[in-house]
Formats: sequence, structure tokens, C-alpha cells
Amino acid sequence: MGNLKNKDMLFKKVSFLDGVGPKLTKYLKNKKIEKINDLLWHFPYSSTDRSDLVELNKLEPGKIQTIKVKIKKYNFPRIRNLPFRVICEDNFGKIDIVFFNSRENYIRAVLPINKWVLISGKINVYKNKYQITNPEYITSLDNLDYIKKKIPKYSLTDGLNEKTFRKIIENVINNLPELDEWYGPEIITKFGFSSWKKSIQMVHSAKNNKNHSTYLKRLALDEILSNLLVLSKNRKKFKKTLKKNKLFKEIISNKILNNLSFKLTKNQKAVINEINFDLNSDKKMFRILQGDVGSGKTIVALISIANVLESNYQAAFMAPTSVLAKQHFELAKKIFKDTNIKINLLTGKTNYKERKNILSEIKDGKTQFLIGTHALFQKKIDFKELGIIVIDEQHKFGVRQRMALAEKGGDNCDVLLMSATPIPRTMVLTIYGDMDVSKLIEKPKNRLPVLTYSKPEKKIKEIINVIKKNIENNNQVFWVCPLIKESKILNYSSALKRYEWLNKYFSKNVGIIHGNMKPEEKDKILVKFLKRKIKILVSTTVIEVGIDFPNANLIVIENSNKFGLAQLHQLRGRVGRGNKQGSCILLFKDNLSKNSIRRIKILKSSNDGFFIAEEDMKMRGFGDIIGYQQSGEKYFKIADPVDHSDLFLFAEKYIRIIENQNLDKYDFLIKLYDKAEVIYSKN
Ligand code: ADP
Ligand code: MG
Repeated sequence: MGNLKNKDMLFKKVSFLDGVGPKLTKYLKNKKIEKINDLLWHFPYSSTDRSDLVELNKLEPGKIQTIKVKIKKYNFPRIRNLPFRVICEDNFGKIDIVFFNSRENYIRAVLPINKWVLISGKINVYKNKYQITNPEYITSLDNLDYIKKKIPKYSLTDGLNEKTFRKIIENVINNLPELDEWYGPEIITKFGFSSWKKSIQMVHSAKNNKNHSTYLKRLALDEILSNLLVLSKNRKKFKKTLKKNKLFKEIISNKILNNLSFKLTKNQKAVINEINFDLNSDKKMFRILQGDVGSGKTIVALISIANVLESNYQAAFMAPTSVLAKQHFELAKKIFKDTNIKINLLTGKTNYKERKNILSEIKDGKTQFLIGTHALFQKKIDFKELGIIVIDEQHKFGVRQRMALAEKGGDNCDVLLMSATPIPRTMVLTIYGDMDVSKLIEKPKNRLPVLTYSKPEKKIKEIINVIKKNIENNNQVFWVCPLIKESKILNYSSALKRYEWLNKYFSKNVGIIHGNMKPEEKDKILVKFLKRKIKILVSTTVIEVGIDFPNANLIVIENSNKFGLAQLHQLRGRVGRGNKQGSCILLFKDNLSKNSIRRIKILKSSNDGFFIAEEDMKMRGFGDIIGYQQSGEKYFKIADPVDHSDLFLFAEKYIRIIENQNLDKYDFLIKLYDKAEVIYSKN
């Protein structure tokens, strides 16, 4: 073994440590511990407050809590990558314990059916059910006293006992290197921080000490800062590559604007100005436009594209589905009709011959404007001179995909991403910190806020009359159900059953769309609905994002308590996009949890997606929102965007101060917290 006090040892494989052989290495790997520094972030049990047992009706999502529960049932899906679930209960409620990358035998051993156990971990809410993902600690009930003893206790690992684990960690912790301080004295004083080494050692120590939260805070700020540093470096690198600036007199765009049936909002104009500034500059644009559903992002994109076209570059506009791409294409054709811009649509449906033709026209520059699906862009398309890529509804792209995209278009290509999923500020910072952010907060003037009602399911028949009235007024209706087929275990309503039921009242006017349908089948129904051949569309949550259904003015959401806050807001945004009043009816079963009541209240009181996103995060924690929880990945090891929101805001200001300095001294910090991997692993 090398000398642990050498700081570079931290990045060596765990197998360098005394007593860590191949078997242990494998077990540690299951816990995502591969390098020596990975050990550091596995804080002991006693270091967070788990001493008090919490009953299942008093859980607080986002917090680390310890529960005493009885094991009821296993759910081991046979599909790869799906997590194992263990359903547990106490006298007050239920909770799912979720395991990613674990083994059945292990789970059966530590969580035997009908036995009472103590489990500790971060409480989350997923699909309106409490759950703990990869719990930090599980122990049989006999061990209650054991837990309360003040020895640092580390979480159980498949095949690895706690004693061995502690020995390995202790060795590392006792031999930590001294690192050069990366904070200036003013910050150390401001927060009362100790050195990095002392902070880590204290967090791992058994002693219950008053300053614990300050030690933890330092490590959290380290982590946040290293995350922002990586994005900031990225951004710097990006801005260094100079491009040819785009010159235009807004002739085409003004022509378009004059022919529009509406006037741009102030907010839209301001965003267009921000984009124009980027286009004119010799630095590449790397911008994300965030705006609630229906805030009018498409026209902003098309105006920007018009300016790029006028400066003699080509443009690409990508959408997630072919129906949406087609809708953008129709709109673009209409808007550009008095210009001599050639626009083409390229989707999975384009036949071979036409496709070949389009590709050759793009290559020789005959086609200036290409509209298509995201998927197409993953393949190589040769442009004569691409000047802008606009990606609609991109919220599912990770940092790496974004970087790849940014580099794809070539030297003179600007990049604009658009997302209709408003996210909390702390998240914007840590996810889009490498991009410039524009926001559409103001809604178009004629837009009336969607009226939101809630109704118990037993009054479902009353809705038939509401629908009848809507259809008489030429309105269309969405009806959303959480699951496709009736499930005995979960009392969700099925879309199929509801479809049949609605058919009794509105035969031939009802369509259905769900996740098990092939994309072409889905498209067919969507187009039928778009053309108003059917009046009611029953669906699971797959209603495609982004498509503008100007006549859909009523949405009914069944079992609405099964959806998250932000998701409900997204769904309700599908209606009321024209100038008619949109309404949303939330159906629920009788016994609503406190959380559900709070969610309904928030939805009724606000139509502001940004506000709702903040509230959603407060209620569910960070992981759920970006969907990281399902992948079992964690964005932050230590920092918590809810608990440490002040640190996030501080780090944001701080990064602006240090950004222009030489950031090399932070390289070690970035490596230490592993943030580099998120971004640089491409190279
Ligand atoms: P999203 O931001 O969800 O992509 P869209 O761009 O599809 O929203 O716009 C929704 C609807 O609002 C479209 O029918 C569009 O024509 C209309 N719209 C956009 N901007 C304005 C405006 N300033 N005034 C009135 N209607 C507008
Ligand atoms: Mg859109």
C-alpha cells in the first residue's frame, strides 16, 4: 500500500488499501465505492439524526428518518434495470423500500417477510407513495439499543459486514492528507468552517457534537462549488471558441411579425433581443429558454431562426416526436410563406427517396431550414453551413448530451434549447450552469389561467354533463388516467375501462392513446384529435408534450393524487392554450392524504410553473424532480438543494467572483467530489 497521506492516493482504487481483496472490492463496487475517496462520502449512521423512530403517517419527505416497520411483500421484477421493491407497513401507513443493483437473496435475508425491522434513509415520495431508495441502514429489532450506541455506524452492504467496512473507512479517515485550503479566510470566518480534513474526520467521528452541521455544511459547499466550477469551466471553454458573427437587419423576421395575428409579449421581445445579441456576437450561443407550457416559445424560436436564415446560414429545428415536428413544420410553412426560404421536414416517416433528396438539398444549401425529430439529429446530417440548432422540449438531455450537441453543429453554429418544464432555481444553477438562461414568465395576453376544480370520484357522473356542454361549444376534452389496465393491487382507474365507459355516452367521439401503443398508432390518434375527428381523448400520461391543441379546453385527471405537483401542472397546461377558458378537473378518491390536499391547494391557487416547481421540490426533494431517483443515480452526495438552498445561492454569487481568476487551484476539489466525471468523461 502506498502512503495514504499522499493526496493523490485518494483517487486510487480501493484495492490499494490493506485488507481489501477482490471479493471486498466487488462488494464495495455494488455500493458504488471504487476509488478511495468514494469511501469518504459514506457518512456514518450516527452522524445524521436518526435516533428517533418516526411513524409512517408522520414522515417528512426529503429528511433522513428511521422507521420501524413490518415486511409485507416483495416485488422482484424480472425486467432488467427495474428496481426491487419491498412493501412495508406499520400501524399507521405503508412505505416501499426500493433497491437498485441488489440481489434477491440479500433482500430476503435482511428483510424477512412478517418480521419487524428498523430502516433508516431519506424519505421520498414517488407516485404519491412513500419510499426509501437504497436505505442507509437496516437492522433487526433486537438491535435497537445497538443503534443508539455512539459508535459510528455505517450502512449495511450486500455481503459486507459493518465491522469490516468501518475498519476500512477508519484507516482512510485517520490517515487523511492535509489539503491546501481553497477558501479565503473571509469565507472560513463567515461560516465558521474548519479545514476539509477536520470536517471529514468530525463527520465520521462517533462523538455527538454541536458543530456537526457546520462540518457537514462545509462539505456540502465544497460539493456545490465543485459542481458549479465544472459548469463554469465548460462555459468558459465554450465561450472561447470564436464564431463568425451573424449579420441581419431583421427584414424577414419583421415581415413575419407583421403578419402574425397577435403581438409578441414584452417578455418574448426581451428574449428575442437576448438571442439576437448572441447571434450578433462572435461567441457561440449556448442558451436555454425555459417557459411554462403555452408561454409561446415556438414563435420565439422561429423569429430567431428567421434572423439566422437572413444572415445566410441554415437552421435546424428539432422536436421530440414526429407529430410535434410536423406541427412546427406546418406553422413554419405558413409563417415563411411570403419569403423564398425553402423548408423541409425530415422524420422517421419520410420515405427513402424523399429523404435522400432532402439530405442532398441540405448539403448543397438548397434547403435552408430543416425541421425534424431529435432522433434524426443523432445521425449525421451534412449541412452546407448550419447556423443554429433549436431543440424543443429537451428537458431529458443530460449535461453530456448537451455538450455533444453543442459541438455537433460546427464552428459557426449557435445552440438554443427550449424546455417547458420549469425547474427550481437551485436546479437551474446546478444543471444549466454552463448555459445562459432565458425565461418566459409572462403568458400571452389573451391567455386565461386554467380554472382548477377538485371532485371526489363518486361524483364522476356529473362530469358527463360538463363534457356535453364542452362538445356543444366546439371544445375538445382530455381524460387522463394513471394506468393502462385495471390492477387489483393498485386501485387506479384504467384508461381502457374509462374509454369504454365514455363510449357509452359519446360513441365514436372518443379515442384512446397509451404507452403500449406503437408510435405510429399514437400519431394516428393524435392527428385525428388534432383534426377534431374525435372530441374526447382518453390517455395515460403519454399525451405528447408540446403539441398545440387549440380547441382542447377541458382536462379531467383521474386519481389525481397519484401524480406529482409539477406533473399535474404540465397536464393541465395542455388545455386553454387558445383564448377560451380552460378548465381542469382533478378527480380523487375519498381518503386524501395531507400531502394531496396541499398539492390540490397549490394547484388551485397558482398557474405559475416556476412557483409550482419550487413547491414540488420542497415537498418531494430534489431527486424525484429530475427523475434521477428512478435511475438510482444521485446528483449530489452531500448537498441537499432544499436543506442547503442558502449555500447554493451563496455558491452562485461566489462563482461569479472567482470565475475570472485562474481556476486551476480548484481542480483538486473538482476531482475530489467527482464532479468532473459528469462532464469530462467524454474525452
Ligand atoms: P409553448 O411555449 O408551450 O411551446 P407555443 O409556442 O406552442 O407554446 O404557443 C402556444 C400558443 O400561444 C400558440 O397557439 C401560439 O400561436 C400562441 N401565442 C404565442 N405567443 C403569443 C402571443 N404573444 N399572443 C397570443 N398568442 C400567442
Ligand atoms: Mg412548445
